[in-house]
Amino acid sequence: MKIFEIFKSLLNKMFGDQKTLNTSSFDEKLLARYSNNTKLVDTKTPDINGNTNVLMTEEGILLIAEKFSGVVYIDNKTFEVYSGVEHKKSGIFKIGEGVSWGCLTPRQIVNKAHNDFSEALKDKFSKVLNTCPCSYPRIIDYISRGCTDGFYLKKLVMDNYLIIINSSYDPSQEIETNELNCKICHSEFEWKFKERGVDSLILKKNNCKIQVGKELAENAPNFIDALTDKVFCNQSFLYRQKLMESDLETTLNYLFEEK
Ligand SMILES: [Zn+2]
Repeated sequence: MKIFEIFKSLLNKMFGDQKTLNTSSFDEKLLARYSNNTKLVDTKTPDINGNTNVLMTEEGILLIAEKFSGVVYIDNKTFEVYSGVEHKKSGIFKIGEGVSWGCLTPRQIVNKAHNDFSEALKDKFSKVLNTCPCSYPRIIDYISRGCTDGFYLKKLVMDNYLIIINSSYDPSQEIETNELNCKICHSEFEWKFKERGVDSLILKKNNCKIQVGKELAENAPNFIDALTDKVFCNQSFLYRQKLMESDLETTLNYLFEEK
């Protein structure tokens, strides 16, 4: 076997079933070189979706059958790909595995989690919480934790159940302190706020006569922060707040679980 053939078969082993680029066009333009022996080339010949870019090895072997409109190098094997004239449709391309167009990028996964949690929470509030949030110890606890999931809960509780009774401002620390009461049971809350700094809501005095929700678990499930850690850092840092990684449903069930 000629040296070239051996080299080509080696590349095929590394990158899977590949096709060689038709190099007849003289208009091709090199857009980027990556450290894994690959390069991004604009073929100047659009496919039906207007995509013109291809990824290939330095030797000209195509790594992906589809053309696309843009690519972001993630690591030696993974690229984030964009498609169409508006660079809208994105997916993950893994060398040797093809493109998962339905696959979400880390940012899309996190955005979706925010949206899913926020919507599910609104739904849960409208259906389950026919009494005030002060009767759910887990909800009150979660609000005071300062995690992202707690932020959504806090917003819903403030918007729907609390009214401001008193407000004061400390100019030296630029902190606003508000006293709030629950519209239903008149429990007393304190909300401290500082632009880009403090945003904490705590229950100071619970006047609620009926406790519907279950007591706190030692480690509470968490959806958004755990997922964010996982997709961006490959690990969770939640143990610091006694929260544990969980899915949307388990987190919501934990919060709203009744006695
Ligand atoms: Zn209340």
